[in-house]
Amino acid sequence: MFTRFRNWPILPKIMTISVISVLAMLIVTFTYYIPLMENRLTEGKESGTRNSVEVAYGIIASFDKLAAKGEMSRDEAQKHAKDMLKNIRYHEREYFWINDLEPRMIMHPNVPALDGKNLSDYKDPNGKLLFMEFVKVANSGGGGFVSYMWPKPGDKEPVPKISYVKLYQPWGWIVGSGIYLDDLRADVSRLRKISSAGAVLFAIMTLTMAYLIGGGVTKRLARVIGGLREIASGKGDVDLTKRIAITSIDEIGLLSTEFNGLMESINRLTVFKKVIEEDETILDVYTRLWRVFTDDLKLESCIIYEIDLIHNRMHPVFPLGVDDDTMPCYSEILDNAELCKARRTGHMINSASFPAICRHFRHGESKEHYCIPMTIGGGTVGVVQFIVPTHSTPAQRNLYERHVFKAEQYIKESLPVLEAKRLMQTLRDSSLTDPLTGLHNRRFLQDSVENLCAGVKRRGKLIGLLMCDLDYFKQVNDIHGHAAGDKILQQTAHAIRSAVRDADLVIRFGGEEFLIVLIDIKEEESLLIAEKVRDQVFQTRFRIDGEQTLQKTISIGACEYPSDCDTFWQAIKYADVAMYRSKDEGRNRCTRFTAAMWAGGQI
Ligand code: GH3
Ligand code: MG
Ligand code: MG
Repeated sequence: MFTRFRNWPILPKIMTISVISVLAMLIVTFTYYIPLMENRLTEGKESGTRNSVEVAYGIIASFDKLAAKGEMSRDEAQKHAKDMLKNIRYHEREYFWINDLEPRMIMHPNVPALDGKNLSDYKDPNGKLLFMEFVKVANSGGGGFVSYMWPKPGDKEPVPKISYVKLYQPWGWIVGSGIYLDDLRADVSRLRKISSAGAVLFAIMTLTMAYLIGGGVTKRLARVIGGLREIASGKGDVDLTKRIAITSIDEIGLLSTEFNGLMESINRLTVFKKVIEEDETILDVYTRLWRVFTDDLKLESCIIYEIDLIHNRMHPVFPLGVDDDTMPCYSEILDNAELCKARRTGHMINSASFPAICRHFRHGESKEHYCIPMTIGGGTVGVVQFIVPTHSTPAQRNLYERHVFKAEQYIKESLPVLEAKRLMQTLRDSSLTDPLTGLHNRRFLQDSVENLCAGVKRRGKLIGLLMCDLDYFKQVNDIHGHAAGDKILQQTAHAIRSAVRDADLVIRFGGEEFLIVLIDIKEEESLLIAEKVRDQVFQTRFRIDGEQTLQKTISIGACEYPSDCDTFWQAIKYADVAMYRSKDEGRNRCTRFTAAMWAGGQI
């Protein structure tokens, strides 16, 4: 029964409790409180009458005392007492009368005709011998109440009345006064009306308030529930920018604030994920993550490490410029990633809760670290490390931990994106490099031409193109075998790379043809560099098998873009033409392209 009630919606619950309380209140009011008040009122009126009669009794007694002292005669005393009581009115029209034990009327202020008359036969309309009753009551114990019928002052018609009578023994006088019951009833009914109206008004107000408060609570809760349901259902496009208006600071206000906070977090995370998906490189994603950590979450000191699963190595990749000496961990973890506890366990390592948890942390207990593994598909591909000051207060630490927890959410969101980008990069790298020499291939050149040309033009410099072809290479294959040929190609690639700057591109253009793209050269510089390359190859002792070495030469053609021609690809063509001129002229030499060569139609 109670469980069933507990499962009711809030509004019916509040209304049921309110209705039960109001009913209980009404029952108590009508069956107990109002009758009690009526009794009190009647009793009050009666005791008021009795007190008045006591006062009248006191007046009589005081006159009797004066007579006893001899200040006046007994007759004078009785006359004064009579006159005084005759004129006294209380509650506007209540009065006193006096009769004796005969009973004879001694004084009646409203019906003077009765004065001096014997009243032993006097009956009210119900046949009650009321004066005889007064005598009887007064004699038994000195005083008491008597009900009968008597006309109101100024009226002729008798109405129900209740009077108190008391005997003044020394004079044999009974003094009395009463209240008319219809007056009393009118007072009682007024009391009942006021009490009933009050109770009903209270009931209406209570039920209305309960309805308004319960309805308000239900309505506001329904909004929160609706929002949560929308998210939970995941149907259609959830509007994550939706917020609930906060109209109070009660529990529902707090609930709404928390709900809005949750929506804000989800929204931020979702937006974050969308943004990083559109980022071009892994470095862009790291930059964005790092900005969230430092700007939004105020986790100022943060380092991202990447792990090379194949070689079991790790290295700090972000922020750029962190090296072995500035790293918060001892550099031994770099060569053996297993030493990193976060990487080994796949769990967050928290030195704030467990001091000195990792002995590879350089700062010991002077700083705290939280290391979050970047785990995907069961492998830990990276670690994000946060460093915070040790001497933080519990409140600060609490805040740090909440922020670290949020950071973890961001890391989790970014993992699939990072992984996808890493995979793309690997694929891209493999499709753009030549597996034998490790140099970029022709496709890479095609992809980069636009950027290369734009950059050089912007800076007002030239691109030098050196087409290189090994001399009599076929012979190597024929005499020493294909494997030896491959070795020579690898060593040639190395020789060429070592002769040019890092910024220059070396492309394996064909079988034993290499294209060197010299970035930002000055006019007529290409031939000088070509000569350097030629000499480097000439000086190289190519190892083909064990101790056996070979000497090979290379022929080079040089061309400059955009000074020699309009398009980049045309420049390559011209470099090729120049290279053939070198071959023709005896090989192991460099030739600068001239317009005459092309005009001559030599290809
Ligand atoms: P020259 O250029 O001086 O005129 O003579 P060459 O012998 O170098 O002339 P050619 O261009 O005819 O020969 C190139 C040879 O390079 C043909 C081919 O067998 C060899 N070659 C091309 N690619 C590879 C490769 O990847 N590995 C090996 N081992 N040989 C290759
Ligand atoms: Mg060739
Ligand atoms: Mg050749």
